[in-house]
Amino acid sequence: MLSYRHSFHAGNHADVLKHIVQMLIIENLQLKEKGFYYLDTHSGVGRYRLFSEEAEKTAEYQEGIARLWDKEDLPEEVQRYVSLVKKLNYGGKELRYYAGSPFIAAQLLRPQDRALLTELHPADYPLLRNTFKEFTNISTKRDNGFQQLKATLPPKERRGLVLIDPPYELKEDYDLVVKAIEEGYKRFATGIYAIWYPVVLRQQTKRIIKGLENTGIRKILQIELAVRPDSEQRGMTASGMIVINPPWTLEEQMKKILPYLTRTLVPEGTGSWSVKWITPE
Ligand code: SAM
Repeated sequence: MLSYRHSFHAGNHADVLKHIVQMLIIENLQLKEKGFYYLDTHSGVGRYRLFSEEAEKTAEYQEGIARLWDKEDLPEEVQRYVSLVKKLNYGGKELRYYAGSPFIAAQLLRPQDRALLTELHPADYPLLRNTFKEFTNISTKRDNGFQQLKATLPPKERRGLVLIDPPYELKEDYDLVVKAIEEGYKRFATGIYAIWYPVVLRQQTKRIIKGLENTGIRKILQIELAVRPDSEQRGMTASGMIVINPPWTLEEQMKKILPYLTRTLVPEGTGSWSVKWITPE
């Protein structure tokens, strides 16, 4: 049932967008001294070897992080993200490893911040646990990520980010995302929730948007980067992040960097981007 392995996709254009948004939200939470809670519901293994058999087979990172790696004109926000990935590569010239969302968070967390990383895959979970076993403020758990919103919210810190990044290999994930958000929001309405979504068939993406609109939750921002126009053919043409209660700076930051990202990640010229409110304040 769990056939999705993120190692095939690590560092692709969708990861670039997701991890930049994740970094910007965490940076914003850290403008205050008070600690916060970071919940990563679908963590993957935490970091990826790009010279592994899986990554080399698809080489999706070649059209993602690799296109930013040597650039000297990166916008400052993108530069900070690339620096985080460079840390994982021992600051080196060569791109050999890619940082998953748990690693991006782990690089940024301060001692007063706390994280819970959940992953369900029997082969991926032990890798995740091993990678983070030395971190005293990071716990890992082999469990269903969707259930963690009900189980662990509200956090004692009363501030936090929940990243929901399912594989969507099961169609029900589209509905489970909305259900999980409802559960979380009931308990922790001031939390920040960031949901990653692919655009494979636009109808399925609309299902999440409709579902969220129907919850009545306000302040939902949608950020999207397309590498090709929508299509009925197989394959992901775009991906996006839906952010509930985004930091007020996020909209402007993304509007500033998305033209650069689109140009650089999609040199073929078929790309496009958008930042819009699903429901405003
Ligand atoms: N968030 C990661 C990152 O950005 O580096 C990538 C996550 S990947 C897209 C999705 C992961 O969710 C896979 O590793 C998969 O094994 C895991 N998974 C699938 N269903 C799950 C569930 N119900 N609960 C927790 N993890 C699940």
